Amino acid sequence: METHGSPSTDIELHKNNDLTSWQPRQPLIVQQWDYKEIYYISRVVHMDDAVKVMREKKMSPRPITHFSAYHRNNLPSEHPCKDLKILWFAPTLEFGAPSYYGNVEFILDLSWALQKWRKSYLMEMVTGKTYTLYRILLTNTNYDELFQGSSNSNGPILRPANVTGHWQRQDTGYGYTRNYVLTNCPRFNNQGYNMQGLTVEFLIEATEDDAKEVFNKSFLTFRDHRPALCEGPTACHRFVRRKKNCPYPYSPFDAQAELFRQLHPSFATNTW
Ligand SMILES: [Zn+2]
Repeated sequence: METHGSPSTDIELHKNNDLTSWQPRQPLIVQQWDYKEIYYISRVVHMDDAVKVMREKKMSPRPITHFSAYHRNNLPSEHPCKDLKILWFAPTLEFGAPSYYGNVEFILDLSWALQKWRKSYLMEMVTGKTYTLYRILLTNTNYDELFQGSSNSNGPILRPANVTGHWQRQDTGYGYTRNYVLTNCPRFNNQGYNMQGLTVEFLIEATEDDAKEVFNKSFLTFRDHRPALCEGPTACHRFVRRKKNCPYPYSPFDAQAELFRQLHPSFATNTW
């Protein structure tokens, strides 16, 4: 893997303990084999959230509450992303595989999403002790002006994702476009190793109406969340942090049955 620039050239956006949010100063130059083609993006949630989504027929956009330079508490009051509300998605790489995010997966066709949300920006890279992730914002808001600013004066910058090297789009000439995301990339100032690899996240800026459309366009699969019974940081994204046992450590089959039971309690009681 080739890296970009010399050490200490990356732009630090935000830091907290072991986590650093940053932007590369130069576009990444990486080898073609560091990219993987993706077709779908998905959002995996726990059983209770899935039941709520199915009942309300939408996924509600929320402000960023994870570690991020774009957490509203880290932004100056005039920053254009101060009131950003988003839906989190990640590339669907393997159907039915274990997930530490939960039981139920809502999957979207990426090509549909890219027709609906026309602009994409590299929001930030986040490097932890053993991994790096990067976040791409899909939006119909024009944030190009933010790209011109500096991270010191106006808060974090956004950069067009298509020119940073974090995401490649290739027009096939046959009416569709291929999309490739990175599977490997440099860390902040090239320090340390991504032993746990690289994660890509798509943050979709969405209205409540968008949220209903996303629900209508998504299809369901079920993920194996039995690893939540194990201890350790990769067991369950939601409950391990709270030092509680996950109440939904289901196999994909059990998750499917449970979702049906929750949505149709009378039917399930009478016939099971
Ligand atoms: Zn869990």
